[in-house]
Amino acid sequence: MMNALAATNRNFCHAARILGLDSKLEKSLLIPFREIKVECTIPKDDGTLASYVGFRVQHDNARGPMKGGIRYHPEVDHDEVNALAQLMTWKTAVADIPYGGAKGGIGCNPMDLSITELERLTRVFTQKIQDLIGIHRDVPAPDLGTNAQTMAWILDEYSKFQGHSPAVVTGKPIVSKSEREDLGGSLGREAATGRGVVFATEALLAEYGKSITDMKFALQGFGNVGSWAAKFIHEKGGKVVAVSDVTGAVENSIGIDIPALIEYKEINGTLKDFQGGDSMDLNDLLIHECDVLIPCALGGVLNKENAADVKAKFIIEGANHPTDPEADEEWLYFPDIYANSGGVTVSYFEWVQNIQGFMWEEEKVNFELQRYMKRAFREIKAMCKLHDCSLRMGAFSLGVDRVARATLLRGWEA
Ligand code: GLU
Repeated sequence: MMNALAATNRNFCHAARILGLDSKLEKSLLIPFREIKVECTIPKDDGTLASYVGFRVQHDNARGPMKGGIRYHPEVDHDEVNALAQLMTWKTAVADIPYGGAKGGIGCNPMDLSITELERLTRVFTQKIQDLIGIHRDVPAPDLGTNAQTMAWILDEYSKFQGHSPAVVTGKPIVSKSEREDLGGSLGREAATGRGVVFATEALLAEYGKSITDMKFALQGFGNVGSWAAKFIHEKGGKVVAVSDVTGAVENSIGIDIPALIEYKEINGTLKDFQGGDSMDLNDLLIHECDVLIPCALGGVLNKENAADVKAKFIIEGANHPTDPEADEEWLYFPDIYANSGGVTVSYFEWVQNIQGFMWEEEKVNFELQRYMKRAFREIKAMCKLHDCSLRMGAFSLGVDRVARATLLRGWEA
């Protein structure tokens, strides 16, 4: 299997060839703007010291401030963060929001850290990168292993050095619909990636004359992306027949009661022993009998080893880089840089609201999200038609073309 960076570079280079990009421009677009690596040492609750390595890769800023999540996961390393930062550059360009791309992360297992240790780690990491992020420079957001609370800590720590600036991070908490303005979080942001994934699913199915109600779904991951996507699919009459997270997997061929599963996970912190279905081996989720598979967890999970066993005809990439290029082209799919772009799109709306100091109703957030995703869908399809290419290459060439044009317009003068 290719590592995440090699795989992302390969997709980029393929798009560059489709577009006929000049080789010097191609090289310049590939190399990240800036790579930051910091040591984060914190006292653990038991008084011992622990050190973690933190990264922030700022890939490109030709179209605007760099934008992307911060991931806490044991597999976070230089190459993975680089790949994910680059994907953000193409994703923001596909969504046509005025950002470049970045990604950060800390190599740690957040499940092994207490809440106070997580707060300390987040504050130390923020201290080390605070002079390199900023409203018009680089705007972090949640990703795997981080959440709205993490963003509140970053905002608080950043503000100590740079003054109060709610727009420096997105995905901030909201207390309730009436108290949402406390820290500047946007209504609809938490559900946005899942909502966008379902929008992408509907759009792809419609191309083949199908709808959510005709289909059986399997979802890998039941965190921020997977649980919201499952909820919306269930509400629209789709049958979710299998779900997994790191702690367990559950299947039910007549359809899982998703609101009950969400409640069960909230109470128990796991999917294990949920009574509304049979438990199954985690590794079997991807090859489970279904029509639509939605990976919403880690990268590289669909690869040469399991490709032939995947039953789903349609794949919607809720996760970033879930498909190894060696397994690509096997299915009808929507690539990550479109399918999961709902999150960063509503991050943009949150940033706009913070800068304007004027908060939107949730209906407006959801309406605009749908409008942006519809537009990107039309534009990807136009690229596919123009270059007679796959949806992945349609999306990549749309994103790369926009960044290339912005780069050329800025010029090369020193
Ligand atoms: N982490 C999310 C992503 O990979 C959201 C990034 C953002 O909102 O900036 O797209």
